[in-house]
Amino acid sequence: MSYDFSTLSEPCDHVQIFERYIINPSDLRTLNYAGNTFENVRAPINGTTLVKVYVGGSLINANDPVFGYQIIKDTNRLEDPGVNFYKIVFDKEVRLVVSLIEVSYSTLQPFCIKCNGLGILNDFEPTSGGIIAKINGNLKLVQKCLKFILTSRCAFYPSFTSRIKDFIGRKFGFTVTDSDIASEITKALGLVKQIQLAQRTIQSLDLPEILRDIVSVRAVQDPTDPTIVNVSVTVSSFNGQTMPLNFSLKATN
Ligand SMILES: [Zn+2]
Repeated sequence: MSYDFSTLSEPCDHVQIFERYIINPSDLRTLNYAGNTFENVRAPINGTTLVKVYVGGSLINANDPVFGYQIIKDTNRLEDPGVNFYKIVFDKEVRLVVSLIEVSYSTLQPFCIKCNGLGILNDFEPTSGGIIAKINGNLKLVQKCLKFILTSRCAFYPSFTSRIKDFIGRKFGFTVTDSDIASEITKALGLVKQIQLAQRTIQSLDLPEILRDIVSVRAVQDPTDPTIVNVSVTVSSFNGQTMPLNFSLKATN
């Protein structure tokens, strides 16, 4: 059975991994975010027990005799009402030259760099065993279709790209219509069919992963947010299943 590595949308855990910090040069105790030293911890901490501090690549215990630390409320940082910021403060002044300080912690969705505040991830998905999740059959087909619809730039295969992302930012119903979106999707999925047809001459594909038809395409402006166009596509595969491919395009002003 053939497989692909899964990059389907997954909910984000909002864990910020190995952010870099420096020790405040005046008090020698408080950590400052290396990317902007005016900030202590870059984003609010959601669950202080999940914080991990690394010095020189080693995980530090909060009671460490040299690098022991506390996580305390950052009462000076009030830019977002209702959001609590924290700072990480070493118990003792650190006068050693420390090469690298990194902090991992969980934050709130609007502050998450991993998912850009969107709440979902479209990246390779690690399993708990540390390997990359695989998918096959219908799910593999869904992923392939979305890849062809949503890939707008490719230096190696420019003919296998779709203009649909170029529509973002244009006014729906004015310069872009539902039929423009439908025609780009039909074109992208037509390519998937052509490629699978060629692929089948040298490699056996499972029936559930072969695109049979585009059953329907619908693009509708979001009733509450006019900058969003909701696209719903239904495709069928050769094992008789139909599958929805839904995504939204958002203009970013
Ligand atoms: Zn996130």
